[in-house]
Amino acid sequence: MSLPIIQTEGLRAYPPRMSDFTKSFWDGLTSGYFRTTCCDDCNRPSFPPKPFCPHCWSNKVSWIELTGRGMLYSVTTVHAGPAVFSGDLPYKVGIVDLEEGIRIATKVLDDTALDKPVELVVLSYEDGPLFAARSHLS
Ligand SMILES: [Zn+2]
Repeated sequence: MSLPIIQTEGLRAYPPRMSDFTKSFWDGLTSGYFRTTCCDDCNRPSFPPKPFCPHCWSNKVSWIELTGRGMLYSVTTVHAGPAVFSGDLPYKVGIVDLEEGIRIATKVLDDTALDKPVELVVLSYEDGPLFAARSHLS
């Protein structure tokens, strides 16, 4: 299932560092897919993607695709942020529990309430993608 892609003007304020390993994540996100790694031994996913399992320390992991859907666990509004994000102030940052049991931190784009369904979207900036969450009406 691919995520909605929102064309976004400008450059990412703080571009994420990409490694040979995480390139698969960023390439997927560019195409609208939210991927992470899942352990081949204990079958538990983790995020961000890692070349080993943080649960059982196995180094046998495979890439899986996540739905990008979950529930908003926590959210806060940032009014005084780092200078690099001053153009976005105020903005919301939240914690989302994804359907697959992964808890992630992400920007939140709209006014949604705790324990309400949210979906991840791709913000397609001129220099690459980022992800964020917004309300999901099922
Ligand atoms: Zn494992």
